[in-house]
Amino acid sequence: MPILSAPLSSSTETPPGSFNFKKTLERNFPGAYPSDAFVDYSQFRLHPFGMNQKNSIACVSVCRDEIATPFMNRLHHAWNGVFNFSSLAGMLYLGITGFQAAHHHAPNTDAREKYVYFAFPHIAIDENGTPGNCRRTGRQALSQACGALIKILQDPPRGEASLNLDPDDVEQSLLTQRLFKKFGFGEIPDLVTLTKGTQQIIREDLERMIQLTIDPRRTDYAVFTGIQIHGPAHKDWIWIETSYVFVDGVRKPLL
Ligand SMILES: [Zn+2]
Repeated sequence: MPILSAPLSSSTETPPGSFNFKKTLERNFPGAYPSDAFVDYSQFRLHPFGMNQKNSIACVSVCRDEIATPFMNRLHHAWNGVFNFSSLAGMLYLGITGFQAAHHHAPNTDAREKYVYFAFPHIAIDENGTPGNCRRTGRQALSQACGALIKILQDPPRGEASLNLDPDDVEQSLLTQRLFKKFGFGEIPDLVTLTKGTQQIIREDLERMIQLTIDPRRTDYAVFTGIQIHGPAHKDWIWIETSYVFVDGVRKPLL
């Protein structure tokens, strides 16, 4: 079991020369954890509730972007595998069938099945503190994340017709529909606000799917959701917006 006695602050592992990154991180995502520390901390916090990698299944949604993969891999390692819920921007499009499939794969040696959900859309912040900018290995020009959200900022839909489901662009058109239901035309926010709005939609979708697919009389579960932040020097951070367990039919906060 990982040893971590207390939450780490965001100041502990900020790369050198990244003062402006740290300022932007702390202003927008106060209390963010280095992602390694978050993975340890999630296990540490669930241990008293009897949830561990031997008796629980981890279900994870991050963006499809390859820079989100190392965080997924850390969770995979810590939890002996994960059921991958991911879509563009970390949205949850797998539906009842996908949730039920994950639940049917959970260990069931205990009387109660146990599920741990992680749902984290992402944003990059570069060394200058600019949200959206990042560096990718092998690419010379500055890159961006989350590309799906930045595409909506740069080319917002105009009119109801542009919110139709596009069979050739299913995930992006679903994302556009959901965001414009939340923000409306002419109200395109900045990238940080758009990312936080996306995370709220993901949390609402996650909790609705849990209600639709879980029987709390025989199931315990935990929810961790927030935002993954890609900083300079390929370091990742995790900002937690909501975390709780639902054990023996009672919800308890984790932080
Ligand atoms: Zn993305």
